[in-house]
Amino acid sequence: MKKGKKIYEGKAKIIYATSDKNLVIQYFKDDATAFNNQKKSIIEGKGVLNNRISEYILSNLSQIGIKNHLVKRLNMREQIIKLAEIIPIEFVIRNIATGSITKRLGIEDGTVLREPLIEYCLKDDALGDPLISEDHIYTFDWATRNEIEKVKKMIFRINDFMIGMFRGVGIKLIDFKLEFGRVKNNGKNEIILADEISPDTCRLWDSITEKKLDKDRFRKDLGDLIPAYTEVAKRLGILHEQSNISAVNVTKLSSVKKKSK
Ligand code: UDP
Repeated sequence: MKKGKKIYEGKAKIIYATSDKNLVIQYFKDDATAFNNQKKSIIEGKGVLNNRISEYILSNLSQIGIKNHLVKRLNMREQIIKLAEIIPIEFVIRNIATGSITKRLGIEDGTVLREPLIEYCLKDDALGDPLISEDHIYTFDWATRNEIEKVKKMIFRINDFMIGMFRGVGIKLIDFKLEFGRVKNNGKNEIILADEISPDTCRLWDSITEKKLDKDRFRKDLGDLIPAYTEVAKRLGILHEQSNISAVNVTKLSSVKKKSK
C-alpha cells in the first residue's frame, strides 16, 4: 500500500492518503496536549505505545462485533484505517467521576456512578469542545436520532467489554472518550467506531493502589508517563513481561523500523 500525501494533522495523529480512496494511514505522533492545547510536550515513544494498545483494543472489539475503522497495523507508528466521515462529537463515558465532571458539577472525585454516564462534547477546538445535550445534536443535524441510538448501544457494549478486559489485568476503567464515523457499506451508511482507544483517551487506575496509568500523568505533571503506558501494554500482554520499554528503547525501535523500510 503506497503512502500518499498528508490529508490532515491533528494533535496526536497524522492522516495520509493511500492508493485506495477508502483507506488512509494513521500515524501516531509523540505529541501530548492537554487543556485545549494550552499545555504541550513531546513524549518520546508515546505514539508507539498508543499504536499498539489501540490496535489491541480495537481488534478485540472487532471480535465481539463492534465494527471499527482498524484494518491493520502497518508498523510501530502506523495503521491502515477505513476513511470515515467523523461525527463531530466526542462521546465521553464515565464509570467513576473524576476530571471535568467533578469541577463542573461539584461531584466528589472518585464517586462510583450508579450507571455508566454518557456525555456529549462538540468536537471544536476553537470553542474548547463544549459540553452539549443530546437535543443539540438533532437541532444542529450533527447526527440523526437513529445514528445516536446505534452509537449508544455500541458505547455500552464497548464499556462492558473494556471494563472486563481491564479488570482482568488489575486496572479500573474510570472514563474514556470515543469517536464514531460514517462509512458506505453496499451504498448504505454504516456507523463504525473510529479514532484511537489508548491511555491518551482513557483514565486507567491500578485496581489496588489507584495509581494513574494514563494521560493524567501528563495533565497533572506526575511524570513517568512512558513507564505507565508500558505497564498497561505489559498487563494486556502486548509487550513481554521482561521487555523494559523505556522512552529511549521505544525511540530506538521505531528508528530501526524506519531504516529497514
Ligand atoms: N478525553 C479525551 N479527549 C478530549 C477530552 C477528554 O480523550 O479531548 C478523555 C479523557 O482522557 C478522559 C475522559 O475523556 O478519559 C473524560 O475527560 P474529562 O472531560 O474529565 O477531561 P479533563 O477536562 O479532565 O481533561
